[in-house]
Amino acid sequence: MERSTIVRVHEGLHARPATRFVKLAKGFESDVELVKDGKAVSAKSSVKLMLLAVKENQEVTVRANGADAIEAVEALIGYLENPRAGLDDEHEAGESGSEPAAPAPEAAPQAAAPADGTPKLQGVAASEGVAIGLAFAHFPPEIAGPGRRLQADEIEGELERFRGAVATVQARMDRTLAENNLSAGDRGIVAALRDIAADDSLTGEVERLIGGGDDAVSAVIAAAATIAADFSAVDDHYLNARADDVHAVGRQICLVLLGQDEVSLETIPQGAILIADDIGAWDLARAPLKRIGGVVCGHGGATSHIAIIARSHGIPAVLGLGDKINELRGAREVAIDGNGGHVIVDPDDATRADFTRRVDAAAQERAGLKVFKGVTPTRADGTVIEVAANIGSLEEIEAAQEAGAMGVGLFRTELLFMRHMHLPSEDMQAETYSALAKAFAPHSVIVRTLDIGGDKPIAGIEFPDEENPFLGWRGIRMCLDRPDIFKRQLRALLRAAVHGNIKVMLPMVSEISEVTRTRALVEECAAELKAEGVPHAGFDLGVMIETPAAVLVAPALAKEVAFFSIGTNDLTQYVMAADRLNPTVAKLNDVTNPAVMAAIELTAKAGVAAGIMVGMCGEAAGRPDLIPAFVKMGLTELSMSPASIQRAKKTIAAMATEK
Ligand code: PEP
Ligand code: MG
Repeated sequence: MERSTIVRVHEGLHARPATRFVKLAKGFESDVELVKDGKAVSAKSSVKLMLLAVKENQEVTVRANGADAIEAVEALIGYLENPRAGLDDEHEAGESGSEPAAPAPEAAPQAAAPADGTPKLQGVAASEGVAIGLAFAHFPPEIAGPGRRLQADEIEGELERFRGAVATVQARMDRTLAENNLSAGDRGIVAALRDIAADDSLTGEVERLIGGGDDAVSAVIAAAATIAADFSAVDDHYLNARADDVHAVGRQICLVLLGQDEVSLETIPQGAILIADDIGAWDLARAPLKRIGGVVCGHGGATSHIAIIARSHGIPAVLGLGDKINELRGAREVAIDGNGGHVIVDPDDATRADFTRRVDAAAQERAGLKVFKGVTPTRADGTVIEVAANIGSLEEIEAAQEAGAMGVGLFRTELLFMRHMHLPSEDMQAETYSALAKAFAPHSVIVRTLDIGGDKPIAGIEFPDEENPFLGWRGIRMCLDRPDIFKRQLRALLRAAVHGNIKVMLPMVSEISEVTRTRALVEECAAELKAEGVPHAGFDLGVMIETPAAVLVAPALAKEVAFFSIGTNDLTQYVMAADRLNPTVAKLNDVTNPAVMAAIELTAKAGVAAGIMVGMCGEAAGRPDLIPAFVKMGLTELSMSPASIQRAKKTIAAMATEK
């Protein structure tokens, strides 16, 4: 059984997507391979998968052989076509599941001309921001193997020792993953490293070398060097950066074999600049990140895991200094510019004053936005504008609350369905929705019913092959045809409504009967729960406005529902007849096109005239350049990625004072 597809995973199957893909593949008994350009590798090895260097928009084939081959191919193709489909416990932070944007492209490290007499080192601008602080040099000693040849009767014992060390490293990483203080992004990185530690490519090579008489430490160093060299040779700078990850994992295994501990980062003083030749992503993820003022490294680039962690924690970083890192070994104070990629060692008074001013200005800007966390923005007439969060899992609650979300304007339930190998039970769904309701009460939590279709299949629902899945059996259409699945979700939502302010919205609505038929099902579910003696409560029912049909019948639709939420992502693709996944027509996919803005305005007018709440949960809701127009149209709720919330509140607050 095999099927080909075009990969839609952002930036291809690099570390974390590869980890997810492997996890998905390992859920099936069948042998599964991924084939690109005639080369086939096991889909159950993340190292092999990464080395296949599959990029976004490339064609690949998923091939499976075994009892559950059909399901395996369906699930893996589903993931490749919709990256969100593979999100699991180690999913990335952020609504889109993407990493914090990488800054300027990598520049080759070189010495910059000293502009002001102060020696400046040039590296890769890996995480924006400026910092100045005491240098904290972190140069753990190199590890070398004893280089002893094993006797034949020692080999079995050495293999056991190696397997034990791998298990210890994995257990440590699992413990780190189990702790709650890792961000979702860091969790994904640690999970990717754990997979490298267990990957057949590494363990197989080490075992082969030990079998040939190498001691375990030497074998790990050699095997890690071979795999790292493979990563370095791939024509993809993202994959090149994985070489450092392989070395870091190898180092952890060696430390366990040698009974040594890694030099700790625990003692880093507040605001200090961490200087290292290389820092394992695992070490950095566990370090007291709040105390680290900046990071400077000999290794790494804009796409290395150190850079990703630094960006997601707002820590300025300059990486890839190469051997010049040694010039910082004895530094007392360091100033770094993560925008330009400069490092200044022991800055003079003028440089210190300049950096201090820039650091203060940046902090002021951040603090300036922070004050909006608790703000309840209002229009000039006093109407509150709810600024809510778009989330897709319980793990994102904290980030939303930290940002100051006034509830959830879109809870995408697809992830709940996609992250499991079978349909989630009513109890499991009720638990998830209840936890969400409790976390945000008394604010509302708008849960969107399952929005799934032929473009993103899930285990447990058979989808027909469709020429145009975006125009096919998806969202409310599929749910109404499958009351067994839909009623389970509606019952769970009725049960969760007891615990907070749950609202429910329907995706992809194009005619009024879809609402009336849903309402009948909700009533049926409520009657069943009552008969069963199960506590439940009613909820407001609303619709997403994301089809041109819904816009055109909005006045009539508004009489049937409690609220509208405009889904600009789909509304734009349907109004403009431009596939939201097709880069060739990306230009047409523009929410600011007058046709789309007119559709939004028509919707707002219909909702306002009927006296119902009109909100927006598409990407456009977080755009400061568009928010004033939406508020003027009458929208009173804007739901967005947590990262956009404070700026949105500021934008709305500024509108009120303009009047
Ligand atoms: C939308 O279409 O604007 C929306 C919010 O839904 P999704 O992006 O999940 O389709
Ligand atoms: Mg949509």
